[in-house]
Amino acid sequence: MNTETLKFDEHGLIPAIVQDAQSKEILMMAYMNKESIEKSLESGETWFFSRSRNQLWHKGETSGNTQRIVDWAVDCDSDTLLVKVNPAGPACHTGTYSCFTPERSDKQEAVAAGAERYEILAELERVIAQREAERPEGTYTTYLFNEGIDKILKKIGEETSEVIIAAKNRSVAELEWEVSDVIYHTLVMLREQKVGFDRVLRVLEKRHRDKSEFQREKAKNLE
Ligand code: AMP
Ligand code: ZN
Ligand code: ZN
Ligand code: ZN
Repeated sequence: MNTETLKFDEHGLIPAIVQDAQSKEILMMAYMNKESIEKSLESGETWFFSRSRNQLWHKGETSGNTQRIVDWAVDCDSDTLLVKVNPAGPACHTGTYSCFTPERSDKQEAVAAGAERYEILAELERVIAQREAERPEGTYTTYLFNEGIDKILKKIGEETSEVIIAAKNRSVAELEWEVSDVIYHTLVMLREQKVGFDRVLRVLEKRHRDKSEFQREKAKNLE
C-alpha cells in the first residue's frame, strides 16, 4: 500500500470498503486518511477516520470487533480502497455482521426464485458468517461456534457415518437429509478455520482443468 499515489479528497480522506476475505461479503464502508492507513498497516487491523467524531478510530476499540487485515486493493483511479479482513465480530455498530444486511437480500431473492443453481451454498456461507459474528441466542450455528472446533468435528464425523448408513440403505430421502447435514457442518468448520468455500471450489476447478488438459494431451498422442 503506497499512500503517495492515493487520491485523497479535499479533507484528506479516502473511502475504504471493507470486505470479509473469506465469505466475500461487503461488511462496511468508512473513511481513512493517511494516518489511519499507516496505523492499519502497522497494526494489521483496520483504523479509520471518523468524520462525526473528527478523530482516528480503531475499529473494535469499544466493541472488541476488530478486523484483521488480510489484503488491500486500490481501485482503477486510486480514489477508493478495498480492505479484505477477517472480522472478530459484527462490522456494524448496530450489531449486525454487515452494515448492508437488508431484510431480504438479493441473494435470498435469487434463492427463493431458484434463479441460480447452488446459490444456496453462498447464502448459507453468508448466514454462517453472520452467526459467527453476531452469535444470536437460540440458534444451532451459534451453539456450534460457542462449543468450538472439537464439537464441530465430532458432528462431521457423526453425520458422515449417517451418510454411509443412508447410502447402504438405498434411502434417497435419508441420503438427501444426511448429505445436507455434512455439507452444512463442513461449511461451519470451514468458517471456523477461516477458509472460504470458494477456495475449495477453485481446487475442484483446477483439478478438472488439469485433468481435461491431461486427457487432451493423451488423445493427441494417440492420433
Ligand atoms: P467499534 O469501533 O466497533 O468499537 O465502535 C465504536 C464506535 O464506532 C461506534 O459506537 C460507532 O459510533 C462507530 N462505528 C463502529 N462501527 C461502525 C460502522 N460499521 N459504521 C459506522 N460507524 C461505526
Ligand atoms: Zn475510483
Ligand atoms: Zn453499520
Ligand atoms: Zn444427520
